[in-house]
Amino acid sequence: MKISEVGEFGLIEIIKNMANRKLVGGIGDDCAVIDIAKEKELLVTTDTLVEGVHFLKDTDAYKLGRKSLAVSVSDVAAMAALPRWAFLSISLRDMELGYVKAFMEGFYSLADEFGIDLLGGDTTKSSVFSVTVTLIGVDDKGKSVKRGGAKVKDNVYVTGKIGCSYAGFEAVIKKIDGYEECKERHNNPYPRLKEALSVKNYANAMIDVSDGLLQDCLHICELSGVAIEIDLDKIPFCDADFVDKEEMLSGGEDYELVFCAPKEYENALNDIDNITKIGEVKEGFGVSVIKNSKQLNIKRLGFKHF
Ligand code: ADP
Ligand code: MG
Repeated sequence: MKISEVGEFGLIEIIKNMANRKLVGGIGDDCAVIDIAKEKELLVTTDTLVEGVHFLKDTDAYKLGRKSLAVSVSDVAAMAALPRWAFLSISLRDMELGYVKAFMEGFYSLADEFGIDLLGGDTTKSSVFSVTVTLIGVDDKGKSVKRGGAKVKDNVYVTGKIGCSYAGFEAVIKKIDGYEECKERHNNPYPRLKEALSVKNYANAMIDVSDGLLQDCLHICELSGVAIEIDLDKIPFCDADFVDKEEMLSGGEDYELVFCAPKEYENALNDIDNITKIGEVKEGFGVSVIKNSKQLNIKRLGFKHF
């Protein structure tokens, strides 16, 4: 049997089920939660970006350095925790030193903005340039927001706009001029840590949108044992006119946050900038999208390797 027959998430499930010990807060959330000190918990996430898969060969080095760390900061933000310590592993072709220095300047610039220290890593030679960042965050014990806490009747919210990164990527690939804001969202995403901390006391469940809005909502459904219904007309779509809305729903790499919060907090959440109510948590299982009260038939939920 080939990996593609079980898919990316099927493979992760197999790896998880092969472990001898079952851990709470281990594989399956944006970060692992490590219960180590009396009053604090550690959040750990690791992500790899590969040349030719996640970024093109001549991608701007400075922005790539920022993005390499940003995708991990986004995972810590999805737990509403504070990112603190990073490890950076780079596999390099015999590239221009200037490119690597610009990459590191970008990496350090984002690290400084979020108060993150680079503590170590690994450097190896490879035929393909790839970057792996491991990021450790910290939170008060039991306070980080998980994917599995959504409750029936919660409202579902999203930060920012959906689809800009996908539109930016398409514009680069298809050599379409303009759409600079979208290209920037794709090449230099900005993690929504500020928003995460603003909604932390209200959110029952949260995830960052890395695979696509629908796919990531489905992850909340899977771990919370609920269904999510999204109203297409309420989604704050990117205004790029050359991309289908359905493609934006599954496009991925938005690095926005989706969270579920009880209705009683609706007024408090209305006062917070950059968030939009897009749907509701229901009984059942799975993600559905409605328009004018009719359910749409969505073919693809999101991006999967394999
Ligand atoms: P994210 O998009 O938030 O980075 P992923 O979809 O990559 O999350 O991974 C989902 C979950 O599976 C995470 O908890 C991640 O740590 C875990 N995971 C992914 N790949 C592996 C692996 N090879 N071994 C163990 N756990 C994995
Ligand atoms: Mg994530």
